[in-house]
Amino acid sequence: MNANLMQTPIDYLKGVGPTRADLLRKELGIHTYQDFINFFPNRYLDKTRFYKINELQQNSSEVQVTGKIINLKTVEQKNGKRLVAEFIDETGKMELVWFRGHKWIRENLKLNTPYVIFGKTNWFNGLFSMAHPELELLEEHEKSMRIVMQPVYPSTEKLSNKGITNRVLNKLMQQLFIETRGQFYDTLSEEIKEELNLISRADALFNIHFPKSQELLSNAQFRLKFEELFYIQLQLLIKNMLQKQRIKGFVFDQIGNNFTEFYKEHLPFQLTGAQKRVIREIRSDLGSGAQMNRLLQGDVGSGKTIVALMSMLIALDNGFQACLMAPTEILSVQHYNGLFDLCKELNTSIFLLTGSTKASKRREIHKKLENGEIDILIGTHALLEDKVKFENLGLAIIDEQHRFGVEQRSKLWKKNHLPPHILVMTATPIPRTLAMSLYGDLDISVIDELPPGRQSIKTVHRYDSNRLKVFRFIKDEIAKGRQIYIVYPLIQESATMDYKDLMDGYESIVREFPMPEFQISILHGQMKPVDKEFEMQRFVRRETQIMVATTVIEVGVDVPNASVMIVESAERFGLSQLHQLRGRVGRGAEQSYCILMTGHKLSADAKTRLQTMVGTNDGFEIAEVDLNLRGPGDLMGTQQSGILNLKIADIVKDNLILKTARDYAKKLLTEDPELKLEKNKMIRYTYAQLGKHKNIWNYIS
Ligand code: ADP
Ligand code: MG
Repeated sequence: MNANLMQTPIDYLKGVGPTRADLLRKELGIHTYQDFINFFPNRYLDKTRFYKINELQQNSSEVQVTGKIINLKTVEQKNGKRLVAEFIDETGKMELVWFRGHKWIRENLKLNTPYVIFGKTNWFNGLFSMAHPELELLEEHEKSMRIVMQPVYPSTEKLSNKGITNRVLNKLMQQLFIETRGQFYDTLSEEIKEELNLISRADALFNIHFPKSQELLSNAQFRLKFEELFYIQLQLLIKNMLQKQRIKGFVFDQIGNNFTEFYKEHLPFQLTGAQKRVIREIRSDLGSGAQMNRLLQGDVGSGKTIVALMSMLIALDNGFQACLMAPTEILSVQHYNGLFDLCKELNTSIFLLTGSTKASKRREIHKKLENGEIDILIGTHALLEDKVKFENLGLAIIDEQHRFGVEQRSKLWKKNHLPPHILVMTATPIPRTLAMSLYGDLDISVIDELPPGRQSIKTVHRYDSNRLKVFRFIKDEIAKGRQIYIVYPLIQESATMDYKDLMDGYESIVREFPMPEFQISILHGQMKPVDKEFEMQRFVRRETQIMVATTVIEVGVDVPNASVMIVESAERFGLSQLHQLRGRVGRGAEQSYCILMTGHKLSADAKTRLQTMVGTNDGFEIAEVDLNLRGPGDLMGTQQSGILNLKIADIVKDNLILKTARDYAKKLLTEDPELKLEKNKMIRYTYAQLGKHKNIWNYIS
């Protein structure tokens, strides 16, 4: 079908007209024929299958059953009468119920005659019932031709109020097929279709709207999901390719004194295999002549910081400056202290710039940055300010990237005449395939190995009623010289409430762990940065044994002697947050513990989260569960990527198709990077269309 016809405004479809067209546009975003054909049902009433009464399940969707009505009675109830029929098949009994239209039913219904019924069942008092079922005599049913899989389209209240019911949408869709004669050009190559055994696009579109059987419907769904994901992947891969071709990067081909000396003499431990591999990947990027855009994923505690440092040393060795940006003041200070310490034997100048850097110091930093006296600048968002100008920024690293937005990454780009190399690091792992489709424009490295000697953290779930036991345990640990975190949830809706929770908690802890035997630090978002830093340092220097805090300590904080993490009201935290918090312990050689405290009332999701935390320490596994619980909506960057506007594929459930789509897109580009080959003609054409009609393919950013 020619593409122009598909761009016809929906107003022109017979049966639509200006009012309906307006509604379709406003309520469903359907502007053109093309939009409409890609408006897919979100479910189907499946009338291909017959159920026996003893096969019925609670909470199932609509079912179809054959049986007989053996009696009919009226039941009086407070708000009116109810007509109840007893319906049986050879396996059991259920009820049919009507709240209206009793007369008609009494007059027309035949007792002891086989019927086919269809509808949604309820389970009550050990019996299934169906309210207002669709009814048809079995005899009639067998004679008639019917649509066995009835599509149900997404709708809105406004649409149904204005008479655009599912039936109407169905009719209009039929009309669309009449006007287009159901001829839709294919968008994939014969080769791909053959290899994957895909049905044609025309068949797929027909069967998604008017499925002839469950099997054809599945084939149609597979084909359309594949196509959708394939083109997203293709776009991302091409974007990445062009970026590499177009965007020249600084070439860091020297491995000089800083790197070598550090590696040989100051490395405080042996790098893990994974760290070495990642450093190699980064080195090869930096030397390639293209600008690096790399995402480094590594579970909490996997040792990303040292990788960051060594990458920055490479920049220095090539005559460039480097910066490291972290999301919180605490983390920036910690990085600064740690890196300063590691580099003290080297001849490098490292500075810290945060929101609370004094004006005079700030001016000094600005000046030294511009004349190149600073090699490495560490800090918070403060680094992004326009006043912060580098002499020659070659590498920018963003730690805990999930806390930053995409704009921040691009701001760093502009800090030099050529964009600096960019390394973003995250400890919020997301499943790899998902990461690839979200960040198709980034290359990905993974540290999938923890430093040796780490004992896995023991995680338990305890109810508030067991608090005394938990306190005893804390005392024992403190007696062994360990330190403890106690974290309270922070829910932004009510900062005062959160603050009160924290303070109440703090007071009860102080009562339970009295001075002078015990010293307690407290840390929360409403404190001034200096005070935060002061409290943090007391804890780091082991002057306090307990740190009571809100989630401000969630990211990155590294105190190896702390071995117990207690999370209060753990049911209120998300999985990735719990995992981050747990990552604050288990950083030294001692056995560490994470205790998740909750009340007795827990939602099903909360239970799953707690069980997951107790069951595994593996961040990637946790990420999978998280993804299944929440959907991708809350994952970092998904908003920007627009991947949520998928028309038919589901990024979580269709993960395998996604993988296949990516593999095929890659293979295609390897063989035919410019899509010039005759056999890929339709792909080239479709790809070009994508750019032209943004409204159709609006999911592609
Ligand atoms: P994260 O990946 O969470 O940022 P860090 O870089 O903070 O992890 O490292 C966690 C801890 O592990 C730090 O105390 C660090 O010094 C230590 N560490 C990192 N790499 C190694 C290694 N190869 N061997 C031993 N300890 C390591
Ligand atoms: Mg870190």
